[in-house]
Amino acid sequence: MYMSNIILTGDRPTGRLHLGHLVGSLFQRVQLQDSESYDEMYIEIADAQATTDNSGNIKKVKDNVIEVALDYLSCGINPEKCTIFLQSEVPELSDLTFYYMNLVTLSRLQRNPTIKQEIVFRNFKNSIPVGFMTYPISQAADITAFDANIIPVGDDQLPMIEQTREIVRTFNRLYGETLVEPNAVLPENTFCHRLPGTDGEAKMSKSLGNCIYLADSEEEVKKKVMGMFTDPNHLKVDDPGVTEGNPVFIYLSAFSKEEHFHKYFKNSETGEVEYNNLDELKAHYERGGLGDMKVKKFLNYVLQDILAPIRARRHELEKNIPEVYQILFRGSDKARKKAQETLERVKTAIGLNYRNDIELINEQVEKYALLHKEEN
Ligand code: ATP
Ligand code: MG
Repeated sequence: MYMSNIILTGDRPTGRLHLGHLVGSLFQRVQLQDSESYDEMYIEIADAQATTDNSGNIKKVKDNVIEVALDYLSCGINPEKCTIFLQSEVPELSDLTFYYMNLVTLSRLQRNPTIKQEIVFRNFKNSIPVGFMTYPISQAADITAFDANIIPVGDDQLPMIEQTREIVRTFNRLYGETLVEPNAVLPENTFCHRLPGTDGEAKMSKSLGNCIYLADSEEEVKKKVMGMFTDPNHLKVDDPGVTEGNPVFIYLSAFSKEEHFHKYFKNSETGEVEYNNLDELKAHYERGGLGDMKVKKFLNYVLQDILAPIRARRHELEKNIPEVYQILFRGSDKARKKAQETLERVKTAIGLNYRNDIELINEQVEKYALLHKEEN
């Protein structure tokens, strides 16, 4: 049987997208999109999910929808090839969530390591919104509604994909083969699985305020790079430095290519290249004698090279905001059609399809016919 390849990913509109999104997911989405080795591709702006921890600040969520959409388009997501939609425009996703909720236990949700971490980050303490606690289930709805089997994500999403797989297996066992089991696809470069923050925190995240945003100006990027956390014990240039776990070097591992070394470490007079690759740069830093400033300056050049074309495209798109909204509305209509079909299939599998269930109606007719016959 031909198994179609359907890609689904998404982001919460809680802020503009940042370098973590770029290496964790966006690069891969664009690459997959252009490879055309798929049948359908969907990108969800998860505005409904973002309300689970922003119920008192819906305006923030609404305002960021356009930011995220602009970020997608400026990174090269092509709405002709890829359906970009708004989660809140597809109410069928809530119906699916409702049925899946019965297939998951509370303790299973409480064991989810990403949820545990996010509860701490968001400072919920004992006031965890139920909707927040159950968002892994709603993510299962998002994925299965589109029969998606390929999910390009950062590694914080692995527990969510695992939860989805469990729901799919339980559903199919109870109600027959209905849903498609998805696979997470992580970036090839392991440094991209979870990009740290500029402050050295384990994850660059909108909620932590430690991000370099794709839409940041040239000056902002430079300022953030120059202020980045590095090896705190590397005080003097001559001191030996640590590159492992050092965010500046992690960013270089994620973003720099050999061409950058040849471009920026070439002596214009002699033509000699000071460092041919990241290993040589790292070795010098570890030995001592290489200052943070020099490494940060290089990182800044690398990032500017990557971000400049994205920034320029964004600038053009910003001149036509109504068209960007139209892209979202057209995408949402298309996504909703597909989710409606899946919901029908799911409800039929469960057996909650009264309108087409002639058998059920006949059964009830017979039951009452028999009852009345006995009475007569
Ligand atoms: P929030 O703080 O609101 O949760 P976020 O920065 O975590 O925002 P999300 O919208 O939750 O961003 O994540 C969208 C996608 O980007 C997910 O696939 C996630 O794994 C990936 N991602 C987010 N941050 C990073 C990061 N620092 N490194 C790699 N991937 C990331
Ligand atoms: Mg997140």
